Amino acid sequence: MGVTYTGMYEPVKEISAALDAIQAETGLDVPIHVDGASGGMIAPFLQPDLEWDFRVPRVASINTSGHKYGLTYPGLGWIVWRDADAMPEELVFRVSYLGGDMPTLALNFSRPGSQVLLQYYLFLRLGHEGYTAVQGASRDVARYLASQIGALAQFELWKDGSDIPVFAWRLSDAASGNWTLYHLSDRLRTRGWLVPAYPMPQDMTDLVVQRIVVRNGFSRDLADAFLHDLREQVDYLERLEAAMPLEAPEGGFHH
Ligand SMILES: *Cc1c(COP(=O)(O)O)cnc(C)c1O
Repeated sequence: MGVTYTGMYEPVKEISAALDAIQAETGLDVPIHVDGASGGMIAPFLQPDLEWDFRVPRVASINTSGHKYGLTYPGLGWIVWRDADAMPEELVFRVSYLGGDMPTLALNFSRPGSQVLLQYYLFLRLGHEGYTAVQGASRDVARYLASQIGALAQFELWKDGSDIPVFAWRLSDAASGNWTLYHLSDRLRTRGWLVPAYPMPQDMTDLVVQRIVVRNGFSRDLADAFLHDLREQVDYLERLEAAMPLEAPEGGFHH
């Protein structure tokens, strides 16, 4: 729920229906784990009617990143299982501790608890209404940016930021051909904007996209400042009379 490359949701309910058909035909019962790293903290507030979670019976577990749209600082992730049966027993360590049997589920050893505290604080402080307001503001800025970037002849939008507040675009045929999104990324970096350009995954690596992630604090004013710099850099690149030299591209994302 929130594909790294494009910010789009995958159709969990439709995938589940396809698995129903497979089960009817073959007897195989395939559960679903939803990677809600970003969307797990967006969809409940911005698309409450979209069924992707435990409302879909096949969904057995969901993860989400507290440090993304959970709004905490880096290093906090969550996973929830539908019920104890869905949780792999191998993940639970039973420790004999001070005379008692203490089952513990942990993927790490000692860690600070401050991140959990911050998440708890934010849940109490913002509540459902507060999260809806914060995520809604990010979505509005993302959609504004996407509409402005999509309006430039040199770009073609991949998606408009209406799933998670993340969107990506590619170069269109109208661009001069003397520059790439890697060059634009470099030029923007000199203005302090980190806007990655990267190849799409396996079997689509010829296609390069550029992506913006809008989070809490990226205001409409900042968006306008960014658009000003973006247009300036695109104008510069379009005025080139010969092609910019190319660097070897960096690798894509891996999770
Ligand atoms: C960020 C992300 C991850 C990794 O989550 P972390 O909590 O940062 O480790 C996995 N999948 C997707 C789709 C992501 O966006």
